[in-house]
Amino acid sequence: MTDADDEEKQLRTVALQLAQSIRLARRRADEDVRRAKVALELKNEELAQQKEWFEVTLSSIGDAVITTDTAGRVTFMNPVAEAMTGWNRDQAAGQPLTTVFHILDERTRKPAINPVEEVLRDGKTVALANHTVLIGKHGSETAIEDSAAPIRNNDGKIIGVVMVFHDVLERRLAAKTLREEGRTLELLNVTGATIASQLNYEAVVKIVTDAATELSGAQFGAFFYTRTDEDGEVFTLNHISGADRALFDGLGHPRATPIFAPTFEGKPAVRVDDIMADPRYGKWAPHYGMPKGHLPVRSYLAVPVVSRDGSVIGGLFFGHSTPGIFTERSERIVVGIAAYAAIALDNARLYEEAQREIARRQKAEEALRDVDRRKDEFLALLAHELRNPLAPIRQVANLWKQQTLSEERMRWAQNVVDRQSGHMSLLLDDLLDLSRIKRGSLQLRKEWIKLAGVIDAAVEAASPLISARKHELQVDMPQPDLQLQADPLRLTQVLANLLNNAAKYTDPGGRIRLAVAQQDGTIEIKVADTGIGIATEQQPRVFEIFFQSTAPIDRVEGGLGLGLALVKGIVTLHDGEVAVKSEGLGTGTEFIVQLPRGTAPAQTATGSARPAAVSQHRTQQRILIADDNHDSADSLAIYLRGRGHEVATVYSGEDAINAFQSAPVDWIIMDIGMPKLNGYETARRIRSLAPGRTIKLVAVTGWGQDIDKQLAANAGFDHHFTKPADPVELADLLEKQAVSPS
Ligand code: ATP
Ligand code: MG
Repeated sequence: MTDADDEEKQLRTVALQLAQSIRLARRRADEDVRRAKVALELKNEELAQQKEWFEVTLSSIGDAVITTDTAGRVTFMNPVAEAMTGWNRDQAAGQPLTTVFHILDERTRKPAINPVEEVLRDGKTVALANHTVLIGKHGSETAIEDSAAPIRNNDGKIIGVVMVFHDVLERRLAAKTLREEGRTLELLNVTGATIASQLNYEAVVKIVTDAATELSGAQFGAFFYTRTDEDGEVFTLNHISGADRALFDGLGHPRATPIFAPTFEGKPAVRVDDIMADPRYGKWAPHYGMPKGHLPVRSYLAVPVVSRDGSVIGGLFFGHSTPGIFTERSERIVVGIAAYAAIALDNARLYEEAQREIARRQKAEEALRDVDRRKDEFLALLAHELRNPLAPIRQVANLWKQQTLSEERMRWAQNVVDRQSGHMSLLLDDLLDLSRIKRGSLQLRKEWIKLAGVIDAAVEAASPLISARKHELQVDMPQPDLQLQADPLRLTQVLANLLNNAAKYTDPGGRIRLAVAQQDGTIEIKVADTGIGIATEQQPRVFEIFFQSTAPIDRVEGGLGLGLALVKGIVTLHDGEVAVKSEGLGTGTEFIVQLPRGTAPAQTATGSARPAAVSQHRTQQRILIADDNHDSADSLAIYLRGRGHEVATVYSGEDAINAFQSAPVDWIIMDIGMPKLNGYETARRIRSLAPGRTIKLVAVTGWGQDIDKQLAANAGFDHHFTKPADPVELADLLEKQAVSPS
């Protein structure tokens, strides 16, 4: 191989290598170009996407948007801007902004400054401008607020302007609605809170009606409701809001026509856009539609107010003279208020009832305390009244212990005891009579009698006091033969009480007048005195038991405050009336008793019309009392003796049998629970000892059940009294069923 050959070979190799390198380099360059192309495409795509995204964004915001170039020509507008200006984007593109966006000052109606011009001039953002009207392409006018800002490139150079504007009317409306909603909410809140805390029924009614009228948008509202008073009487009421209530007063409660009825029946709300167009309207007598003078109602809304227990409290009614005022929303609000109202009214009613109950209880408690106080006073007085006659009796008893009493002294002592025990027994009689009147067990023995006789007896009973106090008594009786049907003893008691009072409550040397008058079927008896009189405010109370107008300490003649209560009780039993008259303290007093004459024929009047003194009226009975309680036996004996009977006492069953065998007896009053021989056994033996004798047995026992009465009857008792037996009743029985006339 030559050198030339070698050289050539080397050259070829180099050339080959070079060619390879060039191929490689070209391939790389191609690759770079391809990559650059791809990158450019991507960039373009991204740009297009960004532009689209930008446009979509601008299109979808709620405000109108227009962009311009630096010459103020439109480059873009979103659909809101299209709608408000009346231009479409393609037509507007390239137009001067002033052509597309034509604005006036709202107040002056002169062309307003275009915000884009300002931005281009000052290079600054223009904030919201108010009171501008946009005149659309087709003449529409929209109140707007606008603002504009420069668009700058990366170097900060202004390349255009973006302007944003919106319809303010819509916003103003929205704001107004918002304000109204706020007011509604506030009113609802306040109403809810007020009626929840309000316990006065009528106040709740007023708040509810006023609030519902305002919230429903009604011109006037009315709440018709029913109330039940303390006595269970139901009455209807109303509260009117937004109209003069006089307009409603003449109309009365809404009647049960098909329009009103559902509300008062508690059915769902009735909402009518135009009541005059409603098929239910105007068909009913007597008004056939709205009564004369009714407010002009077109829109109508009515909602029932229903209590927790389902009963209908009333109805809320709303009206407006324009049709279609009430919406579903107003209906919902009013239904809500009605529900609130029902709860509040239920509560108010319960509260009122509770208050009434509390007041009633307080009154009852006060009355109880009063009775209690009067009872205490009475007991103190009674003790005092009993001690008074007891003191002389005691003294006499002491005297008796001295054996050296003269005959005259002895008689005097007997008289003292007689008088004083008589006084005590009168007192007890009064008490027992009153208690019988109270229990309704006082029996009148009415007969035809001459009034003159009764008056004589009463005067006789009162004369000791009348003469002791040196009064002058005058009796006026124009018809001495006047007769009436009455219980002579009880009537005597009435007049004696009145005369005694007249004597008691008149300073010595006074005048007392008893006058009788007759009119139709009524007899009037007046007892007047010139005494201390009775204060006007005390007059209504004088007939109350225990009532005394003067303090006990000031009282000259004592007394328990029973007399007038007895008078009233007895007169009432006679179907009569008694009244008091006094011009006041120091002016004297007059009592007026009115009695019906009675219906039986006057001929049956007894010949001697003078009712005899108590004992003369009675038939003396021979009575044996058997009781192991000595006091009980003895006291009954004293009382019965006081009534004129012959009484013996024994203290055991055995002694009762002995006494019965040794002396004649008409009545045996016997205790049942006695040691050794009890009352049943004693009675049985007595009955067997004298099978044919008319003798009456009275059991007096602590056992008062039917079975006890049966046991007594089986043992041979004729009557049964439960302890403590009323001695007056016992004596009445003995006298009424007297065994042997004396
Ligand atoms: P009691 O009759 O039981 O012995 P009393 O006379 O006090 O006691 P009431 O006859 O019932 O009871 O009379 C009640 C009260 O009415 C008396 O306490 C007295 O204050 C007043 N009163 C009754 N009659 C007269 C009268 N004629 N003049 C003035 N006050 C009288
Ligand atoms: Mg009296």
